[in-house]
Amino acid sequence: VRRGHFGCGKATPYDAEMAALARGLNEVVRDLPGSVTDIHVFADNQAALLSILAAGQGPAQGLSVAACQSVRPWLTASPAHHVHVWWCPGHRGVYWNGVVDKAAGLGAELLDEVSFAYARQCITADAYKVWRADIHRLPYRGRNNLMQVSDFERCKHTSANWFLRTAGRSTTYMARLIRFASGHFPHGAFRERFNFEGNRRCWCGADVETRDHIWFDCDLWIKKHKPPDAEIERMRWGERGDWRETPIALDDVAEFLRLNPIVGTFTWLELVDQALGDRARGEDDSLALLKVDLHTVRRKAAYE
Ligand SMILES: [Zn+2]
Repeated sequence: VRRGHFGCGKATPYDAEMAALARGLNEVVRDLPGSVTDIHVFADNQAALLSILAAGQGPAQGLSVAACQSVRPWLTASPAHHVHVWWCPGHRGVYWNGVVDKAAGLGAELLDEVSFAYARQCITADAYKVWRADIHRLPYRGRNNLMQVSDFERCKHTSANWFLRTAGRSTTYMARLIRFASGHFPHGAFRERFNFEGNRRCWCGADVETRDHIWFDCDLWIKKHKPPDAEIERMRWGERGDWRETPIALDDVAEFLRLNPIVGTFTWLELVDQALGDRARGEDDSLALLKVDLHTVRRKAAYE
């Protein structure tokens, strides 16, 4: 057994595994007797084993390139030469795994150098910490934001982000989802608040079209999120309380916007303005009135 010692600075476990594999391969092929035809590589990190000789893009790419450079001359020297890669489960009582683990612990020495992946991991963790603290503050979250503190887990900087996974394929749907969730979507109450021109009433006749009206009360839309009337009545007298007071779940919002493609859009507001004008002029068979009907009453009837 030959033992070696080298530093790779502060690094993620993956970085350290990659550094050890690259260094190990380099050591092995340096003075290999000509009679050796097979090299067996053992490690307990599957990800590192899969990428050490793959040299594709990704973290620790430099180390896999170095590993490839080490073994290529030896591999090309004879078709009988092979490198075997073995995964060995860690901490399962495999003798040599235990020996290596112990030796690694003894050899560990802290250096000031920091690997790129480790630095990135620290920066991400810090940013999340600040972001997590921010979401508890109402001025940051916004009074009308449907996102609860518990929804923070949906916010990721990667493709695992809930909004991206839900609406990432459609910019229109993404915009509607974000607008509706944050309360900044085109609707009557928004026009009233910012003193914009146009009608503030809901097409159903309600005085002001608010988000709560659309979500809880308005009968124009398909609402899978609304419990049957009897259930709402039971809730009112039970422990769960008034249905209208329950928090709006983002998953329900996503579904509601999918079921009603025109709700909360500029197109809908303009269409209602036009339909109201047509009706006031007595043009009862206008195109706008037909469209309004198709988007609401008839769509809902077809769904049910
Ligand atoms: Zn309404």
